[in-house]
Amino acid sequence: MSVSRVVCLVATVLQAFAAEPARVGILLTVPPSTPEAVVEALRAETEESLRMTGIHIEWRPGHGQAANETFDRVVSLVLTGPCRPTRSDRNRTSHTLGITHISDGLVLPFVEIDCGTVLRVMESGNAHISLFTPPNVFGRALGRVAVHEIHHVLTASSIHDNDGLTKATFTRTDLTLGGLHLTDAAVQRLRHCLGQTDLETQNRGQQRAHSEE
Ligand SMILES: [Zn+2]
Repeated sequence: MSVSRVVCLVATVLQAFAAEPARVGILLTVPPSTPEAVVEALRAETEESLRMTGIHIEWRPGHGQAANETFDRVVSLVLTGPCRPTRSDRNRTSHTLGITHISDGLVLPFVEIDCGTVLRVMESGNAHISLFTPPNVFGRALGRVAVHEIHHVLTASSIHDNDGLTKATFTRTDLTLGGLHLTDAAVQRLRHCLGQTDLETQNRGQQRAHSEE
């Protein structure tokens, strides 16, 4: 039995008792130099992208008072690197925008986003874009990577779709332009795993590490 099936089974049991939206706590840690506009845009993109899933997101600082609160699910989201619009490091070779930790086949609720790689991908094909990238555009891109990884955590799988926010790779266009959303299949998958509806799309994923670009 796969890990994702175990988690979804639990969520189905919970459905009988919880008709309210699932409360998902996101414990957000960002570098101190991160502009508030970037954080606000990240939060807005994440909430808007997950709006149709029946999830109610509550943001908390990564190191704070959340220890005394209870949520249906909790995700630790850590941003690393230069999380402000600036010239990216051209010597970077990593293609990994974000990672969700997997241990012994178990998807853990720990997500990391590499701001430096996100910046570099946003620059690709345009050497000057970072000089003019508004903080809200950068934050929106970070939010898209966050939703991709949060989907892995909440569905306890490494499943990808052919398009939308859950496809396996992101390009500069995906990060910079509008119109990238969760597919209907991804929405239904999340709703099911959080006890919000019946399963309409089967998880077909396998447990494996992955990277995006
Ligand atoms: Zn992925």
